[in-house]
Amino acid sequence: MRLLLVEDDVMVASGIKLGLSDAGYAVDWVGSAERAEEVLQGETFDAAIIDIGLPRIDGLELTRRLRRGGLAMPVLILTARDALQDRVQGLDLGADDYMVKPFELPELLARLRALLRRSQAATSATLSFGALELDTANREARANGQLIELGPREWTVMEYLLIHAPKPASKDKLLQAMTGWDKEITPNAIEVYISRLRGKLEPHGIAVRSIRGFGYRLELVEAAPGLPGAGAE
Ligand code: CA
Repeated sequence: MRLLLVEDDVMVASGIKLGLSDAGYAVDWVGSAERAEEVLQGETFDAAIIDIGLPRIDGLELTRRLRRGGLAMPVLILTARDALQDRVQGLDLGADDYMVKPFELPELLARLRALLRRSQAATSATLSFGALELDTANREARANGQLIELGPREWTVMEYLLIHAPKPASKDKLLQAMTGWDKEITPNAIEVYISRLRGKLEPHGIAVRSIRGFGYRLELVEAAPGLPGAGAE
């Protein structure tokens, strides 16, 4: 899961970022609303944490702009001012939840989990392609009813390919979905995950085709003989 943190206070931001990273999230941090808007033009995140107290354009205005621009990802706002008006306004402008600073990290993590659960339930909980079914709510992959074991990175790649199927998925966007800016994953590492997925999917009649200079596409093929899913008749 990739999060965007928008906070101008370096100390607060690094504390939150560290906590979220330790909890397994890929976190990208920007210090202003302007920078957040820039980044969101070209990159996708699973959720954003936006501080209300930002220079020039505040977090409420940023939230309003993002929603007006049609961005649907969950937004959690942070406010140092324990002002009811800010929280009410934030929720009215399209934020999904808020936290009043200072807060305890476990509470932020719990609220994030709840937001991400809700946003996943709102989109389709099960993705499918050919014999493959991905239950995103329970993080289970099955093909022909058989459980397929996927590591966390493999899961991310698989989910990304399935969301785009039958269209090809861009390798650049896939790289972005897998990591934050400061823990760059190399294109070669992607190849490793793709190769592992091929090994797990091909027996079920699904190929991961490389599209030169662009990325990958899922395709239906004949299942390998003698393996699960093959020769059903
Ligand atoms: Ca601030």
